Formats: sequence, structure tokens, C-alpha cells
Amino acid sequence: MTSGIDFAKYAEIPVKIDLPPSLSAEDAEAASAVTQFSGLNCGRLLLRNLRFAGFEVPTPVQAHSVPLAMQSADVISVAQTGSGKTLAFMLPILYRILAAGSAPHRGGRNEPVAVRAVVLAPTRELASQIHEESKKFAYRTGLRVCVAYGGTPFGSQMRELERGCDILIATPGRLNDMIQRDRVTCRDVQFLVLDEADRMLDMGFEPQIRDIVEGSGMPPSGPGGRQTMMFSATWPAGRFNNVRQIADSFLVNPAMLTVGRVGGASESVTQKVAYVEGRRKTAAAIELLREVPGKTIVFVNTKRAAEELEQEFYQMGFPASSVHGDKDQRQRERALSAFKSGQINVIIGTDVLGRGIDVPEVAHVINYDAPNDIEDYTHRIGRTGRAGHQGLATTFLSAANKNIARDLAGMLTSSKADVPEWLIEMAPGRGGRGRGRGGRGGRGGGGRGRGGYRGGGGGDRGGGD
Ligand code: AMP
Repeated sequence: MTSGIDFAKYAEIPVKIDLPPSLSAEDAEAASAVTQFSGLNCGRLLLRNLRFAGFEVPTPVQAHSVPLAMQSADVISVAQTGSGKTLAFMLPILYRILAAGSAPHRGGRNEPVAVRAVVLAPTRELASQIHEESKKFAYRTGLRVCVAYGGTPFGSQMRELERGCDILIATPGRLNDMIQRDRVTCRDVQFLVLDEADRMLDMGFEPQIRDIVEGSGMPPSGPGGRQTMMFSATWPAGRFNNVRQIADSFLVNPAMLTVGRVGGASESVTQKVAYVEGRRKTAAAIELLREVPGKTIVFVNTKRAAEELEQEFYQMGFPASSVHGDKDQRQRERALSAFKSGQINVIIGTDVLGRGIDVPEVAHVINYDAPNDIEDYTHRIGRTGRAGHQGLATTFLSAANKNIARDLAGMLTSSKADVPEWLIEMAPGRGGRGRGRGGRGGRGGGGRGRGGYRGGGGGDRGGGD
């Protein structure tokens, strides 16, 4: 369902492009942005699937990155989930594999499955989301898209792959395991995508990623080898940052796109803060559930709080599910799909839920427990206001949350939201610095999102390049 997408918002999204000097003027011209999917020359089948998916107009990341990727350029996109990046990397991959026309490789007895495209994603949830989305694009093309992640039986995933696999979406640990056991080979890989690269590195996946890319026989990036596309929500300043180092090792003469975001914190999310002390939080949350109908995500900081709140909501007539690190993969998927399908309207989660998950019509995010830092805050509230919908985020704070007060005040200021007096009072070291700090406020305003980029303040990309 795509109704309600505000395309006027897409048009406003800023995109900064740095083309590699190696691109000829002709290629650069061919790679310029398109305004219609038909301008991508991606063939009848894929255009039909986009129509079936209800996609009418490319989002900015699609408009800019697909033509570049179609020219075989390596591309770095600083863009977030919610910007339409799945199609941005999937469309060129599908198009080029279809154009090459050969049949998918099936693993035989004693023979590893040779995949042609590898998409690495940090979490099981994100991998399965990319898989679901990609299947729509690959519908009736004859291409096989498979998924592999830890926490589910190795054998059943392997059996799926052995039926033939062109494009494999995987978490680094599981794929590395498959390669080590000689069940999958990367020697025929023509496309490598690193999705949420910053997050994968934060999670400590660098050794597995390096093993896969550098130690598995994967062709190198560049002409005659593979093509590499890297997506990251952040692009931290400084040469010695590991996101940049990974880009330096894995990509050759990349084009660089920095894309703002539909549903960025400052634009399509109305942010509110409420002073609520511990004992009152459950009653206050229930009041909000009554006041704001629609899908609601409630964030807590501990597994125990998630479980307790689930019980309390249930008793008050709000059936909810919870997602946290103690639940196994099947329980987490069941909870998420009940929430996505509308069977339940409330989901409670720890920060496991805060990243990457795409549920288009979340009306309200409640930070029952305040997040530990402004980056988590940005990710959490980014679950609402997606794909151009207007969203609401309410954060409960009390004297115990002084640590985030200053950044939060900066964020609210730069998003032009109301900043209550008590929040300014709460911020440590207030007085002259509390409210109008251009620099750190800019960071708070954008965090991992667009504010840092837009404001050009000391944020992720701003001053760094
Ligand atoms: P992504 O950033 O790939 O996770 O996409 C975010 C959401 O936007 C998903 O629900 C997509 O199905 C949707 N979406 C992506 N591209 C388009 C488009 N061109 N038109 C409409 N919806 C889109």
C-alpha cells in the first residue's frame, strides 16, 4: 500500500553527488538522475514489477544511484532505511543478471552453491526485510533470491539455496559459516552490497566481512570483476574511521551520494517530551494508547520491562507483543508480522527494534524508557513518519535522564519542536550552552540522519569532506 506517500517531500530531499574522476563525460551523462522509472531502461519485466509494487516515481536515492550503478560504477550512498535504498541496489543487480541471461547455479552434491550477488546486512530482521522486498522486484523473472541468517537451522536455509540462488541476502556470520563449510562460493560474485555498513561495523562484523570479501575467492572490485555498492546511515569524519577504511578496501573509484531522508526526524515526525516519573509511566503510556489510535511502538531499555509492560498492556485491553534479545528468531518474526499485518497494534521492544525495521504506517513511537543517547533516539523515532507519512514520537523523561537532556533539547530546537523549560533546566552545564549550541545542536538535530548533513554542522558528513 503506497497511498499517503507525500511525493512533494521526495522532491525536497537534498542529494549531494561526487562522481569519480574516472567516469567519462559520456558515462556521467548517461548516469544522470531520472525522474521516471521508465527513464532507467530497466526492461519490461522489472517495470511491470514496480507497477505491481505500487511504485510510481523513483525516490531520490533510486533516481540518482540506479543510473550510476547501471553504468557499473561502484557507489557509496549515505542513506537510511526508509529512503528506498533496497530497490536502489536491487534494480541494477536484477537488470544486469537478467541481461546476462544465464541460468541460476544450483549446488550439486559435493559442490558449493555459486551465487552471483551478495547483499550483506547487519541483522536477521533487516536481511529478511530486504529478502521480502526483493522478491517483489524479482517476481516472475526466473531469478532466485534467497536469505541466510543465524538463529535458524543451517540445513533448511542451505536446502533453499541448493535449489538455485542468484542473489543471496545474508548476515555476515551465517554467510561466512556457509563459505567456511564449503557450501557456498563467492567466486562468481558480480555484485556485492554492504547495507547499513556502519551498523555492521558497530556490531563487530568486520572480520567476517573481510573474510567473505577478501578471503573467499570473490572477484575484486573494478572492471572485469565485481561491482560494489555500499550503504551507510553515517559517514563519519576522519580518514581512520572504519566505515571509510572498508570503503577504501572494497570499492574502486566510487561515486558518492549523500541522500537526505523521507521522514527525517526534523520533518515528518512531531516530537514531544513529557516529564513522567517511574511509577506513573505505565498509566501515562496507556493514556497515550487511548488518545492516539493506530500502530504504536513502545521502546524500553530492558528485557524485563518489555515483558512486564506486555502483561500490563494486555490487562488494560491493549494486546501487545514484545521483541527483545531473549526471544528467539521465530518469536521475533511472529511478533513483527502480527504487528505489520495489524493483528496487534502495539509492539514493545528494546533497541533491537530501533534499527532498520520498516513498518510503513507506524502512527506513534513512545519512548517509555528514554534512550541512552541521541543516536538511538534518532533511530527509534525514525520508525514513524516513514515514506512521507506524518508521525508522532513521545518521550518520557524524568530527573534520572539528565544524560540525554542536552542533546535532546538540541534536537528539538533544530527540529523546530517545542522545548519545555524543564528540559532546559535539566540539561547539565546549561546556561548559554544548553539551548543554542549550534555545533552540538546540529549533531543532535541530525544525529545519524539528515540534520547533520543539512545543517553542515559537525555531524556525520558535514564537516568531514
Ligand atoms: P527501503 O528504504 O528500501 O527500506 O524502503 C522504504 C519503504 O519505501 C518501503 O516500504 C518501500 O516499499 C517503499 N518504497 C521504496 N521505493 C518506493 C517508491 N519509489 N515508491 C513508493 N514506495 C517506495
